[in-house]
Amino acid sequence: MSFSAKELKAFLQSVVETIEENKDYLSELDRKLGDGDHGVTMSIGWQAVQEKLDNEWKDENDCGKISISAGRTFLSAVGSTVGPLYATGFLRGGKEVQGKSELTGEDLNNFWTAFIEGVKERGQAEVGDKTMIDTLQPALDTLKQEYARSGSFAEAFSKAVSSGKEGMESTKDLLSKKGRSSRLGERSLGNQDPGATSSYLILKAFESVMTSVQTA
Ligand code: ADP
Ligand code: MG
Repeated sequence: MSFSAKELKAFLQSVVETIEENKDYLSELDRKLGDGDHGVTMSIGWQAVQEKLDNEWKDENDCGKISISAGRTFLSAVGSTVGPLYATGFLRGGKEVQGKSELTGEDLNNFWTAFIEGVKERGQAEVGDKTMIDTLQPALDTLKQEYARSGSFAEAFSKAVSSGKEGMESTKDLLSKKGRSSRLGERSLGNQDPGATSSYLILKAFESVMTSVQTA
């Protein structure tokens, strides 16, 4: 497996695209639970990342620098709740891979572990609160377990994405406990959480890049 800065940039590019494709869908989900801006917010943040991909990072090969810069860029572009949450993920993940232009399975495992733990620490949400943690925590649990079992990061990550999907879907039946939607009480039932959905899209984008590396 060869995962270099080129693949990290391909992952970020893929997130930009998937967020654009799902912009209306994410805002629609947020209209039912919050203020209807999640798609717009995510799009603004990821378009700022796109600008860096097109310019500043063209010749950058340090995966840590790219990820940390992605976190900072996202944070300064995005005003809402998700700004600091996703930014913390990319900052913490980036710290794990500083100075590296080629990443091993171990590096990628460290990156995602730090990413998810960073989001969790920043937002202080638990599984069951109807947030992005309902996607990210089960994904991390599976990643840890499967990576320890098989030693294959790509295999473990694919399984982690499946667990993340189940977690995302579980938010439909949850009462919201964090953020704007917590004010809705019972009315938050029946709708999938927008942040849990964008987190799944991000994991899925990473999985696609992993798969293309493997089959190349
Ligand atoms: P805002 O609520 O400021 O409008 P967004 O609409 O962009 O922000 O994002 C809302 C999403 O943020 C929610 O769907 C939820 O998944 C996520 N979220 C809110 N609070 C937290 C938290 N404390 N920890 C993790 N995720 C959170
Ligand atoms: Mg919102």
